[in-house]
Amino acid sequence: MNPTQILSPELARSVALRHGTPVYVYSQAALERQARAALAFPHAGGLTVRFAMKALPTAAVLRLFDGAGLHFDASSGHEVWRALRAGIAPAKVSLSTQELPAEVAELLAAGVRVNACSLAQLETLGRLCPGSPVGVRLNPGRGSGGTGKTNVGGPDASFGIWHEYTDAVREGARRHRLEIVRVHTHIGSGSDPGVWQEVARASLSLVREFPGVRTLNLGGGFKVARVAEETGTDLRAVGAPVRAAFERFAEETGRALHLEIEPGTYLVANCGVLLARVQDITDTGLGGRCFLKLDTGMTELLRPTLYGAQHPLEIVPADAGAGGDVPGCDYVVVGHCCESGDLVTCAPGMPEVLSARRLRQAQPGDLCLIGGAGAYCAAMSAKNYNSFPEAPEVLVGVDGVPRLIRRRQTLEQMVQNELEAG
Ligand SMILES: *Cc1c(COP(=O)(O)O)cnc(C)c1O
Repeated sequence: MNPTQILSPELARSVALRHGTPVYVYSQAALERQARAALAFPHAGGLTVRFAMKALPTAAVLRLFDGAGLHFDASSGHEVWRALRAGIAPAKVSLSTQELPAEVAELLAAGVRVNACSLAQLETLGRLCPGSPVGVRLNPGRGSGGTGKTNVGGPDASFGIWHEYTDAVREGARRHRLEIVRVHTHIGSGSDPGVWQEVARASLSLVREFPGVRTLNLGGGFKVARVAEETGTDLRAVGAPVRAAFERFAEETGRALHLEIEPGTYLVANCGVLLARVQDITDTGLGGRCFLKLDTGMTELLRPTLYGAQHPLEIVPADAGAGGDVPGCDYVVVGHCCESGDLVTCAPGMPEVLSARRLRQAQPGDLCLIGGAGAYCAAMSAKNYNSFPEAPEVLVGVDGVPRLIRRRQTLEQMVQNELEAG
């Protein structure tokens, strides 16, 4: 998807002028379109779509999705508080975390849904909140992710309770009178649709072992195509066999299960653009490389460095009158941090391998639009590395008007918690 489909060249120039660069820009229309698509996921006995808020936890985005009818998945106690602070009702928030917060009893009492993600967490919940309804996150024995770093199921993943330990789950629940009302599985980000469907069926069989379970949460992980070489997920195609499996389950057991899915990437990835400026162009001589240096990098866009992720790029000339047919150039696009690992155009899946990208010939001062920057970008940055301030975020409303939803960080804010050693 071309970044200018989300942010037109004219709007890019005016946002850059008003708010400076680098700046994240999101499209309300695109976010709402994705929310509608997720809410159309096929289901048999009811559906709740939770936004995995770790992908983009800015309050204005949470409120927009709240208004669109989504619920929320939090991956830490801090995320729960952040959602509540944004005005999200506790009953719309579900917590599945590697690190149970100390105040989990308070959250549960307020109506937040909590999934025990290990046997020790189940014990803690039993000790602190005996008699409560809780969910369990199970590791279904298989995982699938776009990279090893985002595969969170199978024998090499620490997430959830191993699927062969359901006896221990039932025993722990009995001891503490915990009512297991939900089963949760999430196998990875960028998962293969075929594996996702298989795991959905395997998860349904796990539900058979818990007669009190009324909800099955199948997690997120739906792939999107950021660049042309990637394939996105057709949620209707993925969901149709899952709906059929839920229907068969209901016929066989008399239990109509409620389905939950919790996409992060799918809802936001292609709804955001990171708007940056070309600040320098250098080369390493004949047979060398031509480098395009941006005023952004791993401080706003860590995914290439971390995963070898591919993001679409488009040059928008600073001068609106610049001609259209400027020859293309092969640029290696790099970030502004002082390390060679700050590479925007790495080879797919290979963070350290330089790869040139054919782009419109650029001049310092031109804008560079980095697409697919809605998920795990503003939310997951090498914040303040090289003391670059956290970039602002702008939401373009359905009326086409850009509004600031997070200010640029100041130097004062960057150092405000530092103290004299004495
Ligand atoms: C991260 C996460 C998700 C969302 O994953 P995406 O790949 O962004 O869709 C959903 N559920 C849980 C528990 C997660 O940790």
